[in-house]
Amino acid sequence: MARIIAIANQKGGVGKTTTCVNLAASLAAMKKRVLLIDLDPQGNATMGSGIDKYSVQHSIYDVLVHMATIADVVQRPEQGGFDVVPSNRDVIAAEVELVDVEHKERRLRAALSVGSAIYDYVLIDCPPTLNMLTLNAMVAADGVLITMQCEYFALEGLSDLLGTIGRIAQSVNPELVVEGILRTMYDPRNSLTNEVSNQLHEHFGDKVYRTVIPRNIRLAEAPSHGVPVMYYDRYSRGAKAYMALAGEILRRAERAGQAADPALAQT
Ligand code: ADP
Ligand code: MG
Repeated sequence: MARIIAIANQKGGVGKTTTCVNLAASLAAMKKRVLLIDLDPQGNATMGSGIDKYSVQHSIYDVLVHMATIADVVQRPEQGGFDVVPSNRDVIAAEVELVDVEHKERRLRAALSVGSAIYDYVLIDCPPTLNMLTLNAMVAADGVLITMQCEYFALEGLSDLLGTIGRIAQSVNPELVVEGILRTMYDPRNSLTNEVSNQLHEHFGDKVYRTVIPRNIRLAEAPSHGVPVMYYDRYSRGAKAYMALAGEILRRAERAGQAADPALAQT
C-alpha cells in the first residue's frame, strides 16, 4: 500500500516544491514507485518535473471537479523516474466550482483510494495556503511533511498548521500524523539557524529529520531545465542531500513497519 505524504506549510518559499520534486526523484532512484501530485495552481512542481503546464490536457482539476481517475490524468516525464499528476491555473476554479458540493475535501482521498495502489509513495505538493486544496491533501494523506526554513518567524504559523492537522485527524482522517519536519535552505553559519533548530527539536523530538537540505544554487537552477537536481548535477550538495533524505525516510518506514508487525515483534 502506498504511503501518502502531503508536503505542506502555508508559508511560501520554504522549499515545499523543491522537496516534492527532488524527494520523488530520489525515492524513484531507490527503486520505489512514486507518484507526484501537484496541487498548487502555480504548477511549479509540474514544470520542475519537465511537464509544460500550459499544454496539459488534463490535470488535478479534472480529478477534483469531474472525478476523473488518477490513471486518466497521470503523465510520465522523460526523466525523473516517477509519475506526475499535473496542475495549472485551472485548479483555481475548483474551489469555486465545488463550493456547494458536499464532502468536497474528500475528492482527492476518493481518487487515491483506488489510484494509489500501484505506488509505494505518493507525494502531494500543497499550495502556500490552508485552503480547500490543502485540506484535500491532508484528508487524503497518511502524513504531513512540513518544510521549514530556520529563520526568524519560522515557527510562527506552525501552530495554525498543527491545529489544522489536529482537526483533520479528529474529524475525517484519524490516521493523519506529522510525517516529519525538514529543515531546508539550511545555513549553519547563521546563528539563528541553530536557535530555531533547537526549538524544533524541543517541540518535535525525533520527528525532525536528521538530514538537512543546504542552500545550494543547483537546487534553484534545476527547475529551469525541467529536471530534478540529480539529472542536472548529480554531485551537487542538493542532490546528495535529497538522496540522504530519501534514505532516512525509507529507514524510518522500515523501523515503523517492524514495530507494527506482531510477527516480527515476537522474534
Ligand atoms: P515553496 O514551494 O515552499 O514555495 P520552493 O521549493 O518553490 O518553495 O522554493 C522557493 C525558492 O527557493 C525557489 O526559487 C527554489 O528554487 C529555491 N530553493 C528551494 N530550496 C532551495 C535550496 N535548498 N537552496 C537554494 N535554493 C532553494
Ligand atoms: Mg511551491
